[in-house]
Amino acid sequence: MADLRIINGTVLTMAPGYEPIADGVVCSREGLISYAGPADQASEPGDEQVIDASGCVVLPGLVNAHTHLAMTLFRGYADDMMLQEWLEDWIWPAEMRLRPEDVYWGSLLGACEMLRAGVTCFNDMYHIPEQAVAAALDSGIRACPSGVLLGFLPNAEQLLEEAIVFVRQLQQQNHSRIHPMLAPHALYTCPDEMLLKVGEGAVEAGVPIHIHLCETASEVQDSYDEHGESPIEHLNTLGLLDIPMLAAHCVHLSEADITLLAEKQVGIAHCPTSNMKLASGFAPVPELLEAGVVVGLGTDGCASNNNLDMLAEAHLAALLHKVHSGDPTTIPAHTALAMATRLSAQALGLGDIIGTLEAGKRADIILVDMSSPHLQPPRDPVSHLIYAAHGSDVKTTIVEGQIVMNDGEVLTVDEAEVIARATQCAARVTDIAG
Ligand SMILES: [Zn+2]
Repeated sequence: MADLRIINGTVLTMAPGYEPIADGVVCSREGLISYAGPADQASEPGDEQVIDASGCVVLPGLVNAHTHLAMTLFRGYADDMMLQEWLEDWIWPAEMRLRPEDVYWGSLLGACEMLRAGVTCFNDMYHIPEQAVAAALDSGIRACPSGVLLGFLPNAEQLLEEAIVFVRQLQQQNHSRIHPMLAPHALYTCPDEMLLKVGEGAVEAGVPIHIHLCETASEVQDSYDEHGESPIEHLNTLGLLDIPMLAAHCVHLSEADITLLAEKQVGIAHCPTSNMKLASGFAPVPELLEAGVVVGLGTDGCASNNNLDMLAEAHLAALLHKVHSGDPTTIPAHTALAMATRLSAQALGLGDIIGTLEAGKRADIILVDMSSPHLQPPRDPVSHLIYAAHGSDVKTTIVEGQIVMNDGEVLTVDEAEVIARATQCAARVTDIAG
């Protein structure tokens, strides 16, 4: 892998308190950022590969804090339904038909889509997770893989044991781009006994827990009916909030829940598109941020989004909370962009290694071409990224110092083959009669 020197771009380091650097330089050495700052303070050029970022904004790769990657196979398969009907009558039966190769090609399709849109890391929760790992390793993207643990499956206990072995094996293999987690699907699908075992496994392995939490009003009501406390209070009763945790959604929260989330430093993946599409409600993101909770952004799976475009997600996050609160100063552009980068990385427990362009961090970097008519005239690049840009404006995607996408072409895999194979897999998995 060549060392890189990215010159002539406007650099957004996304570090706390950063200001755009009009003539910036970003250097990577052996996969790590060695410099990010003004050109006039950079070291003399050496024999690095030079990337001319003229007309581009250079920023950290976007971090998708919650998805189910292989659900690309279900894109457009079951739209416009109630959550429970969607899950129980459509998604879960189709997922029973998944074979390893389906998850591999579906994940690879999602990886190609994300690399094109500047997403360099994704937090996954899905079946047969070794296939998502294979897709991540083959495509060059960074991944936080985990299998999805569902208490009602006949082999639930065996799957939990396998998930712990999966984490252990990945830790032994020590891939620098793979950061495993343990993922109980949700409180309403995992009994207490199982959650406690997950907690033990997570502590022993030293990995975070990835869970859906407080997504719907009925989920919260059911928890009050069954346990006499909210899902978040119940997780606290079980001791699980003392373990590093990424909670997806967190739509229906009490003030006490928000206080607990802040106190226990639970990371949140806000998924505005999915919450809107499934009519789950409005997550109290301004209140969470105000309380000091780390709130990142996720696309959720492609069956409830239906894409993996994190710039679109940040755009929607900026708009949704304005209309909900009636206050146009809520979630300004710089907050939305921080949620898609630094805060998502922090929420995943990866804040020390990715999420900003700072010396010593992994060189996960994107260049966004700002020369198109819809991004002119040149003004605040953060405003343009959030309110005017699309994922397709990303010109170059670099993960750990490796250029994995350039000028709309993923360089690590054959995209035509990925699309053809994923299309075949999708046809079989979603063929109800077959
Ligand atoms: Zn989800």
